[in-house]
Amino acid sequence: MLTPNRARRPLLAANWKMNPLAAADAVELARRVSHAAREHDSFVEVALFPPFPWLLPVRDALKGTGVELGAQDCFWERAGAFTGEVSAAMLTGWCGWMIVGHSERRIIFGETDEQVARKAAAAMEAGLRVIVAVGEREDQFVAGHTEQVVSGQVDVVLRQLAASGADRLVIAYEPVWAIGTGRNADPPLADRTMRAVRQRLELGFGARAAVVRVLYGGSVNAANVTSYVELDACDGSLVGGASLKAEEFSSMIEAVAAVSRRPAT
Ligand code: PEP
Repeated sequence: MLTPNRARRPLLAANWKMNPLAAADAVELARRVSHAAREHDSFVEVALFPPFPWLLPVRDALKGTGVELGAQDCFWERAGAFTGEVSAAMLTGWCGWMIVGHSERRIIFGETDEQVARKAAAAMEAGLRVIVAVGEREDQFVAGHTEQVVSGQVDVVLRQLAASGADRLVIAYEPVWAIGTGRNADPPLADRTMRAVRQRLELGFGARAAVVRVLYGGSVNAANVTSYVELDACDGSLVGGASLKAEEFSSMIEAVAAVSRRPAT
């Protein structure tokens, strides 16, 4: 049995995307997840990322539970004539976390590596903790360019960030072809890529890189989450579809906590 590196507390991050449709369902999901997370708090950190309008009701539902809250995106400017946008500075006080660079933002909304880096820097500047999502498209995977693509995405972000913020940074490796497809990456592939990410972090941040968590995301569920979090290179998971099912996500919290509880060898 593998014993992962537990110097970093594993993180299970729930990206709800544009779901659920009703506020009452968001609150109910948050309540059920926080109930399941209660006894595992020391072994796994759990953060929920609802759509903007549900931040307030979900924040209320999570009060005093230890489960954290984040937003799924932000704009890099603080305020001004940017119709439809929400700044990281505005979200401070509402939530503690931010996701930037999700592949749906990159592909559907055309966000570039540079824009993702500006968003990450703005979220850091606003005092938030930041998950930067990176990952290769299927054609890049087939061409054998995974490490090159992912390393490049990480480097662009690191150029905008100070090593002093390393403890608020998380990198989520999410192969685009694995997101929402049921085709999760083989753990050895995920392991190789997450190791490459850590090398880039070490080059960029030196010794401070040790506190940055690296996650795997892409069709992770209760049946396969253990095979990722027991990898030494993996500090948790960014979860989409499975995070909308209270029972399944609760089982994932238990599975990650069980790995985290394993005694060091
Ligand atoms: C995601 O959207 O970040 C994700 C990993 O989705 P899923 O778990 O559904 O593949």
